[in-house]
Amino acid sequence: MTDLQPTPTADTLARRFADFSTLGEALDYAAGGTRGFNFHDPRGTLVRPYPFSELRSDARAHARRLIARGVVPGDRIAIVAETSAEFAALFFGSVYAGAWPVPLPLPTSFGGKESYVEQLGVQLRSSDPKFLFYPAELAEMGGEAAQRCGVAGIDWEGFTTDAVTDVALPQASSNDICYLQYSSGSTRFPHGVAVTHAALLSNLAAHAHGMHIAQSDRCISWLPWYHDMGLVGCMLSMVANQVSTDYLKTEDFARRPLAWLDLISRNPGTSCSYSPTFGYDICARRIGSQSRVEERFDLSRWRLAGNGADMIRPDVMQSFVNAFAPAGFKASAFLPSYGLAEATLAVTLMPPGEGIVVDLVEEQRLSGAPVDASKPKRYRSIVNCGKACRGMSIEIRNPDGVVLADREIGKVWTAGPSIMHSYFRDPEATEACLIDGWLDTGDMGYMVDGYLYIVGRAKDMIIINGKNHWPQDIEWAVEQLPGFKSGDIAAFSITTPAGEEAPAVLVQCRTTDEGERRRLRDEIREKVRSITGMNCVIELVPPRTLPRTSSGKLSRAKARNLYLSGEIQPYELAA
Ligand code: ATP
Ligand code: MG
Repeated sequence: MTDLQPTPTADTLARRFADFSTLGEALDYAAGGTRGFNFHDPRGTLVRPYPFSELRSDARAHARRLIARGVVPGDRIAIVAETSAEFAALFFGSVYAGAWPVPLPLPTSFGGKESYVEQLGVQLRSSDPKFLFYPAELAEMGGEAAQRCGVAGIDWEGFTTDAVTDVALPQASSNDICYLQYSSGSTRFPHGVAVTHAALLSNLAAHAHGMHIAQSDRCISWLPWYHDMGLVGCMLSMVANQVSTDYLKTEDFARRPLAWLDLISRNPGTSCSYSPTFGYDICARRIGSQSRVEERFDLSRWRLAGNGADMIRPDVMQSFVNAFAPAGFKASAFLPSYGLAEATLAVTLMPPGEGIVVDLVEEQRLSGAPVDASKPKRYRSIVNCGKACRGMSIEIRNPDGVVLADREIGKVWTAGPSIMHSYFRDPEATEACLIDGWLDTGDMGYMVDGYLYIVGRAKDMIIINGKNHWPQDIEWAVEQLPGFKSGDIAAFSITTPAGEEAPAVLVQCRTTDEGERRRLRDEIREKVRSITGMNCVIELVPPRTLPRTSSGKLSRAKARNLYLSGEIQPYELAA
């Protein structure tokens, strides 16, 4: 590694990125400045300031410890990704040692201990790491998963007592793999994506460029570091862009979502913070119709309220504006984005200040059917996800690979410097989606004047009698019924005992009264029939039954599997 570069002064993006060919160099450079991370407790009190200079020296000490334990370039180092100084130091330590950090999820409330150990086990087997690091409080589960897979498990606090030997650190180059990122597992088991330094740095530069991020910005995040939006968007980007960032643990956000907005209000310099739609939704619901929001919150300096990772719901975003405009929140701060692990993170970004822009599309057109003028018209609002990030290209293609014109719906393909190298040790899956440098994202959408609109995931589409139905059209319609909220419903297709394909709709239901449940089921069936024109299987299930990915997204594929295997038990209701 070269000597530290001077403390950055000129705030130009070209200057900041021109010299970095590896992530290690980006941290070397950031360490010459005064910025860093700040970790907060559940109440939002600062418990650990962590300047980039300290992160760098801890990381380099860890790199030497790893090498002393036999780690060589290309080894994988799995880390259960708690939002903490220890995780950051180990992540960068692995990178300085030439090894590939592999952030793995923390347990969620869904599924319990056995399912967590099992999931960790699958990811350990597929990433085949030299070590698995975990925080002391997860020693039991982490240790068990590591033991089952024959991986050495290490409690990361113990590791810091290893002596630091005087070994030289290897020199990485930009085309080397930097880390492995697992996809969320919305449509299948999470896949490990191998990201090169070059792909990462180009995506980080594209963020800074597309979002006009400057060193005077300050970020706050509760997003988990095992998901690309939290890791790349709110951790690595902040190092490469030298932006100070305040963190709240994801579990603390889940317990007290408004702590996020309290922290933004308390730190007057905060200008950026991102979340998938559900984060905005939960805050708008919690605040309800509380008056005097302006006395508790000040959101007036929030310049970039990023949104992505899942469908962006204009109705939810509007409720957030309604709830928090009195506290100074500006609707123009919303910044829609679209991305995926296979493209490092962002593929498109809305230009800052344009907010949520929607396109109203006739639902018959979304399902690929010619519009039948005799049928009543229903519309879906599709959110504009912005323009391709710098260096990235997008094409909408039909199943024969023909590039479609504006407003024609097809598969979204993307190419450019941020595209993954490969799925780790999975050439078949890689070849299935990476063709001639173009990535098949698996998403369906359309373009208008260079702006991308996402309609849904191809794998989630329900195809009955050759006609396509989007699960979210069904789910969002059911949500309109009183008593249901977003995330309560999952729609997918099944084969009925009579051998026919039919949409099945699982609905989380809070009422304990059986008669009321029957009434709700019939009402939902009617609602879905009015949208799809078909008889559907409607099942009411207990609250908190529908599976979410570790990054908080509804997984329809998993819901379907659990339902068909009998692990999701619907309420028994007379016809
Ligand atoms: P898996 O690939 O393992 O099934 P996943 O696709 O959810 O899971 P990620 O890479 O974390 O894993 O998420 C990327 C996906 O999230 C995109 O392919 C897309 O389906 C969805 N997504 C991201 N941004 C948006 C957006 N703005 N609007 C709609 N969907 C989005
Ligand atoms: Mg995916």
